[in-house]
Amino acid sequence: MKLFKEMMNEDFEQVVFCHDKNSGLKAIIAIHDTTLGPALGGCRMWPYDSEEEALVDALRLAKGMTYKNAAAGLNIGGAKTVIIGDPKKDKSEAMFRALGRYIEGLNGRYITAEDVGTTTQDMNEIFMETNFVTGTTDAKGASGNPSPVTALGVYYAMKRTAKEAFGSDSLKDKVISIQGAGNVASGLAKHLHDEGAKIIVTDINQDAIDRMVDNYGATAVKPEDIYDQEADIFAPCALGGILNDDTIPRLKVKAICGSSNNQLLDINKHAEMLKERNIIYAPDFIANAGGVINVADELKGYNSERALEKVKTIYDQIGKVFEISELENITTAKAADRLAEKRIDSMLNVRGNFLHSEKHAVVELV
Ligand code: NAD
Repeated sequence: MKLFKEMMNEDFEQVVFCHDKNSGLKAIIAIHDTTLGPALGGCRMWPYDSEEEALVDALRLAKGMTYKNAAAGLNIGGAKTVIIGDPKKDKSEAMFRALGRYIEGLNGRYITAEDVGTTTQDMNEIFMETNFVTGTTDAKGASGNPSPVTALGVYYAMKRTAKEAFGSDSLKDKVISIQGAGNVASGLAKHLHDEGAKIIVTDINQDAIDRMVDNYGATAVKPEDIYDQEADIFAPCALGGILNDDTIPRLKVKAICGSSNNQLLDINKHAEMLKERNIIYAPDFIANAGGVINVADELKGYNSERALEKVKTIYDQIGKVFEISELENITTAKAADRLAEKRIDSMLNVRGNFLHSEKHAVVELV
């Protein structure tokens, strides 16, 4: 089977197909890599058109989590669950409990969390069957809403990006254009406003824009105009794939740093385009790791202070990416992959194993 071959080529460790006739559960748990520790990754519920599509998504997302967790300096591996179904009508307690029993069967190799299409309530139902779940409201030491912590991480990443672009990490008087005015964007805007930055914002939701204007003195622009703004740093905090052939030539910024996943439509081509235009790109999966760093802290018994200290290290991780990029003359997107791979490889070396196979580049992220 072609997909099985692909899985082997990419060094996936384990794929579990979960089926529960009574509840209608059909799910795939993909464990990509546990070199650094038990694999943590969210549980996505989506009405996939086919089982093959669901498997491809699970594999892609699981690998992305390995890179994200490794580059964040966490001692955890990467995995993901996808449930095939419509989150609006196919959910039940029985379904999530059945999934919880499957996760329990993995005995800690995989730890789940919320993702697109799942909620804290779903995590609570999984928690009835297993302790290997984060993001519940029922468990002792739950870490709560990840968005403010993600926003804080993006803020640290942006400061390090500013240092690279302007020689100082101060954001005072810098103009930051933000795409999106949702949970992460509004948290980021607060930090920027507190430091004296000027904010340009867009959203498709007028109420969200109004809040940014009222609370942080932001200047609002139309969604399509955000790419044409004269600003110091552009912060994509809404959608993926927005750095592409059409938008990159329009950008009038020195750097990009935001929370959206998969900002580069084509990771290699569009990272190169940005490099050619001398626009510094802070890789999304490092800048937006605050949420996973926060949730991962639950594994030790959640301590908010400790989690926030760890989130600060995003500043240094972004710095390492810039160093690798310069040293190896590669894009920052590739450098971010290298950072993750180096960490996994050094752990394999410590264990006396041979070097991990080369896993260059095309990693799409959650
Ligand atoms: P959110 O849903 O709260 O906010 C997204 C905002 O984008 C919404 O206000 C929406 O109206 C707006 N939007 C949608 N289409 C738009 C368009 N065409 N132009 C402008 N605005 C548009 O989501 P969030 O939690 O703030 O997450 C933002 C991004 O960061 C997402 O890509 C998400 O995957 C990523 N992310 C979030 C977290 C987290 O902890 N919340 C963690 C990692 C990554």
